Amino acid sequence: MTDAQVVQVALPVPMRQLFDYSCTDNQSLPVPGMRVMVPLQKRTVVGIVCGMSAQSAVPIRRLRHIIRVLDDEPLLTPQVFALAQWAARYYHHPIGEVMQAAIPSLLRRDRPAAPRVAPHWRICDAGQQALSTLPMRYHVQHHVLQVLVSAGTAGLAGEALLGLVPRSSSTVALMTDRGWIEQVTAASVSPVPLSAPPRLNSAQRDACLAIDKANGNYVPFLLDGVTGSGKTEVYLDCVAKTVSRGFQAMVLVPEISLTPQLVERFQARLGGSLAVLHSGLTPGERHRAWWRSREGSTAVVLGTRSAVFAPLPRPGLIIVDEEHDLSYKQRDRFRYSARDVAVKRAQLSGVPVVLGSATPSLESVANARSGRYRRLVLPVRAGVAQMPKVQILDLNRLAVNEGLTAPVVGAIGKRLERAEQSLVFVNRRGFAPLLGCSECGWQAQCQRCDARLTLHRGSNRLICHHCGANALPPHCCPQCAGESLYLVGEGTQRVEEALLRIFPSARVFRLDSDAAGDSQDLAQALSAVRQGEVDILVGTQMLSKGHDFAGITLVCVLAMDQGLYSIDFRGPERMFQQLAQVAGRAGRGQRPGEVLVQTEHPDNPAYARLVQHDFAGFANTALAERKAAAYPPFARFVLLRAESARSGPPLDFLRSAVRVGKARAAQAGVRLMEPVPSPMERRAGRYRAQLLLAASNEGQLHRFLDDWLARLEGLREATRVRWSVDVDPQEMY
Ligand code: ADP
Ligand code: ZN
Ligand code: ZN
Repeated sequence: MTDAQVVQVALPVPMRQLFDYSCTDNQSLPVPGMRVMVPLQKRTVVGIVCGMSAQSAVPIRRLRHIIRVLDDEPLLTPQVFALAQWAARYYHHPIGEVMQAAIPSLLRRDRPAAPRVAPHWRICDAGQQALSTLPMRYHVQHHVLQVLVSAGTAGLAGEALLGLVPRSSSTVALMTDRGWIEQVTAASVSPVPLSAPPRLNSAQRDACLAIDKANGNYVPFLLDGVTGSGKTEVYLDCVAKTVSRGFQAMVLVPEISLTPQLVERFQARLGGSLAVLHSGLTPGERHRAWWRSREGSTAVVLGTRSAVFAPLPRPGLIIVDEEHDLSYKQRDRFRYSARDVAVKRAQLSGVPVVLGSATPSLESVANARSGRYRRLVLPVRAGVAQMPKVQILDLNRLAVNEGLTAPVVGAIGKRLERAEQSLVFVNRRGFAPLLGCSECGWQAQCQRCDARLTLHRGSNRLICHHCGANALPPHCCPQCAGESLYLVGEGTQRVEEALLRIFPSARVFRLDSDAAGDSQDLAQALSAVRQGEVDILVGTQMLSKGHDFAGITLVCVLAMDQGLYSIDFRGPERMFQQLAQVAGRAGRGQRPGEVLVQTEHPDNPAYARLVQHDFAGFANTALAERKAAAYPPFARFVLLRAESARSGPPLDFLRSAVRVGKARAAQAGVRLMEPVPSPMERRAGRYRAQLLLAASNEGQLHRFLDDWLARLEGLREATRVRWSVDVDPQEMY
């Protein structure tokens, strides 16, 4: 072999390193971003080329050969490639796993980059007829037919259709069988404006103008607009402008199955040039949507967290809706924040990025105050809608019956008389969160977690919400055989039952992850609410997410106090965000809204802020507290976590980690706290412990981590635990 070249490859293994390979003489050299098939021990794996070098730590003649180069051109566009490299460094996560996260799962195997032609769908005559004869309760099918009617003869790309409705593949198959819809093979559909935008109000216009003025360059915006202020209309306007100039837009949303309506609004405005990317797609659907984005045949990519790595050859704008939402942060393995990656991406690509929320994260508020982000404000609700009137109900002074106070029951009754809709927000699913014995004090506990079991009615099981373990509830106390078992607290099921008892003729619908086990049910439920087929909607935080239900005039919050006294320093922030978001579901239409919040701590200042819709005031106080405590956003946190099936090893590992890091940490201005057991030490049978690091200088922190994590990999104690690092942790357990 002459002129040996070393190819550095990122492999799908949890190691913070690249692997060196060489090419055979008749192989053409791959370039960064291409996939290669290589031998790894006794397996063959698909990796991504990250670089070339003239030398290797291993003697070059002993390097193994690349088996095959899978791509003719880089699969990862240069921008995504650079972004993934940044993310691996910033989150200190193994580069191979980061690169894998940036490509569709199908392409992590030996497969051609281009998918087979993406099908388009069109409505047939039989479908037109079905639309008028099919009973309305077939919401999903109606919906698909209606969308295809508006798409016209060109039809709609499969992914766009599939993004609209859950369990879409089976629905589409069924409708094809019946001859209602048919496949057309069009390459792509040009963006046709299908529904006219409303006339923007002056705040919306100012916001659009400011974003427009960025002129396609990197400017980070914080679009701070109260619930229902028309942020989505601002996104739509900016996206439409971006598209009309021939550029692509990326729109990130927290969860698509919860907000199918948002997809519809984009669809209606942008037509078939939308690709939807979310976890509900099959691998094939995902691959095709990804490919359309990469080819540039789709003008807009609308997706959840991982869509932040979608390739865009002509990037023009990035939008992150509900930027405060926790689901942007991946909770295991590669723990990135899609919001933060999106901002970095905008910077690398030199395009504007808009972070929108009615309750921005304190990080973003701080960035806006320091001038790093440009703040755009939508101070009032759009159209005729007003902010709802919020009233706090003191649980210490009111009688409570199955979680409900008399004012709440009265207010719901009034809505029923007026044929308006109510939303009842309960923080927990299930029937009751505690089953205990009044004679000996026994409580139903999970065997595998440090947690109590929740009683669920329908299935009649005691279920652990942390590990899913479940058991039949006992008839008598397992400890003393006494028969005085009692239930404490209310979950959604108990409240639903109580409401049905109080209002027997009301149409009560429960919405939580038990009821909406399946996203098709969820879409049907949401559409039933919108069509006024539900009087009272009972549910968990699923209800707080961005829904636009015009008919809801009352929102009742039964119990949210836990957040105030959470062990997590972000507890109050999250609680306030959730309260403000759920309150924001009231009175979004013509009629004014009312919000009733039951609490045991009515004097907590957070409630006074809520009554005044004063998120800024809340943020001021919270930021001052964070500053005094040197907490984020005024410091950088990193959490080192360890877990094992035995209780000793995690803490042993973390103590050794402190020992090998102490001296350098002090030099770098990084504080290593005491290793501690996690707040819920045992979860799913594993013992967990954590070590918090705090630093004020980001650069020094990352240099320290580079060195320290490499040392940890060599620790003897590391072999007995599973450990991981979480940069900018969002949950402190
Ligand atoms: P947000 O995203 O801030 O919650 P939306 O964009 O969903 O707000 O707007 C809330 C409601 O107000 C929607 O029903 C929307 O169609 C309507 N709306 C938005 N902007 C306007 C406007 N300029 N004029 C009239 N109605 C509007
Ligand atoms: Zn007992
Ligand atoms: Zn459990």
